[in-house]
Amino acid sequence: RVVLEGRHLVKEYPAGTRRGLLRRQETMRAVDDVSLRLVQGRVTALVGQSGSGKSTLGRMLARLIPTTSGEILLEGRAVPASTSSGHREYVGDVQLTLQDPFASLNPLRRIAYTLGRAVRIHQSARGTEEVHARCLELLERVGLTPAERYLDRFPHELSGGERQRVSFARALAASPKVLIADEPVSMLDVTIRKEMLDLIDALRRDEDLAVLYITHDLGSARRYSDEVMVMHQGRVVESGESRSVIDDP
Ligand code: ADP
Ligand code: ADP
Repeated sequence: RVVLEGRHLVKEYPAGTRRGLLRRQETMRAVDDVSLRLVQGRVTALVGQSGSGKSTLGRMLARLIPTTSGEILLEGRAVPASTSSGHREYVGDVQLTLQDPFASLNPLRRIAYTLGRAVRIHQSARGTEEVHARCLELLERVGLTPAERYLDRFPHELSGGERQRVSFARALAASPKVLIADEPVSMLDVTIRKEMLDLIDALRRDEDLAVLYITHDLGSARRYSDEVMVMHQGRVVESGESRSVIDDP
């Protein structure tokens, strides 16, 4: 079942002006006519060199940035290409996690606050007790146990892998249908990469999520995805079943 569909998506950025401010603004196409379908319970890997437009595509699909043109459909219905609020938490169905969770976890707030806020926004949890219980449940689901130990920590008091897990927990608070994981393991130690990829795989299975796994690592794309799309200079140059598109490394 197709959950999220992008049709002819285009994103242009200003390319800066050549000599002086009065010149006509030039643009560059970071994403150039990309169509894709994300299916429930399946992982689609989006691979390509740095600068090929992967993050831009992910951000458009998560409605973090507006599209220049093209359409985004969630379960067959057209959705506004961006929200007026930059807050991801208000758009529950499609959740995005970043390569560096430091960039999205408030450094001044304990995990209890950050997760609790997401729980209050997305679930009808009100009382302190109930929010607390839901936060513990989320932490356990992403493998942070004993969960109590993590609630009072600040982001800088966690390891990189733990921070990545917390950002998955926050995403799950929204009960999303689609998870877009932008380079979830590139900043992590090789030894814990597998654990993180196994977690994503378990979430896909247990929560029946459609996952877009953005990476430049072909090996993990081959192993952890069902389908793969290869981007080059803003275009999809190849796509298909992962094992047939990517050779065994
Ligand atoms: P990838 O995720 O594959 O590394 P990106 O989507 O980050 O690629 O970038 C695609 C292209 O768009 C790059 O040339 C990048 O420099 C440019 N780009 C990305 N974000 C912006 C922005 N906010 N403003 C202008 N150019 C951008
Ligand atoms: P506070 O209310 O403590 O200021 P926010 O919830 O606003 O904290 O989050 C801080 C930053 O993290 C904001 O820039 C916000 O847009 C961003 N952010 C919040 N939720 C997400 C999310 N799910 N994914 C990525 N960034 C997020």
